[in-house]
Amino acid sequence: MLNFTVGPVMSSDMVLSIGKEQVPYFRTAEFSALVLESEQLLKQFAGAQEDARSIFITGSGTASMEAVVMNVFTPQDKVLVVNGGSFGHRFVELCQIHDVPCTSIDLELGQPLTAEHLQPYENKGYTGFLINEHETSTGVLYDMQLVSDFCKRNHLFLAVDAISSFLADPFNMQQLHAQVMITGSQKALACPPGVSIIVLSPEAVERVQNNKVRSMYFDLNNALKNGERGQTPFTPAVSVIRQIHARLKEIQANGGVEAEVARTASLASDFRSKIAALPFELFTDAPSNAVTSLHPVNASAHQIFLTLKDEYGIWICPNGGDLKDRVFRVGHIGCLTPDDNTTLVDAFKDLQRRGLI
Ligand SMILES: *Cc1c(COP(=O)(O)O)cnc(C)c1O
Repeated sequence: MLNFTVGPVMSSDMVLSIGKEQVPYFRTAEFSALVLESEQLLKQFAGAQEDARSIFITGSGTASMEAVVMNVFTPQDKVLVVNGGSFGHRFVELCQIHDVPCTSIDLELGQPLTAEHLQPYENKGYTGFLINEHETSTGVLYDMQLVSDFCKRNHLFLAVDAISSFLADPFNMQQLHAQVMITGSQKALACPPGVSIIVLSPEAVERVQNNKVRSMYFDLNNALKNGERGQTPFTPAVSVIRQIHARLKEIQANGGVEAEVARTASLASDFRSKIAALPFELFTDAPSNAVTSLHPVNASAHQIFLTLKDEYGIWICPNGGDLKDRVFRVGHIGCLTPDDNTTLVDAFKDLQRRGLI
């Protein structure tokens, strides 16, 4: 199987070999040390302050999105949400579920966020801002400098879902004045699904500590207390955390976050240059390094996905809803190489030869 979806993605042999081992008991000094070292590396790669904190949630990325909405905002807040696809919409729904007043900035699918979209909300008493740096459902990467400047001017607490952009696109909490970053194990961390991570700036830690959350599992204050000794309140996905640790160490050894972002960027540009002559249009002019969203001009996107899966053993990422037949996505995260890109492009060329695209 060759997997170009946007998560779960392909894991390296090193990560796979850890998944094969017995799951160790975790209330030990050894596991605590591994968690604390992972926390340090995550903070470093996220560009967070020395006294920032990271929290491991056993649950997919959405669990951490929900925990963030519940723990850093209250019904006294007034939050702007960028809604350019299904992940932006998810933040709107989470605010509604948890009685956090919010305004949804609705974008057309595939369109970037511009200063004109934000202008109506200057000086309007907002307190927070929620955005997915990369709206994975459309492949759009938002202009985070624009967002950061807007939030600074308006004194907004900025929380960023970087689930699919962490390690794929540039992101730095301190430079952007972002207070929260969320990521997940099955995207560019290239581990199995099951764990998501929240990095909290010192200001965000204070918010969490002063907030009273009506939840046991999503009480981040409890997670912070346990995290001081490298532990989680409840049994975590121990194996996945061990895999994340090994992967973070590997990224560090290979030159850190900048090198990993550069590797992903070059894989994306390699793919984009190889498909130049194929009958596909780019769905967005503002793509993330993590994904290329394509509109096939002569064929159903969903049918291409099915044919590649069933006849070639290659998985691209289908879209749902209104985009089902119009758009498919090709991921550049996970353990992929330029040779893998060639394999996929050769399969596209074969489809073309057969008159299927
Ligand atoms: C994958 C993803 C999520 C989380 O989805 P889960 O299925 O809950 O892991 C959230 N936001 C973005 C931008 C994503 O790409």
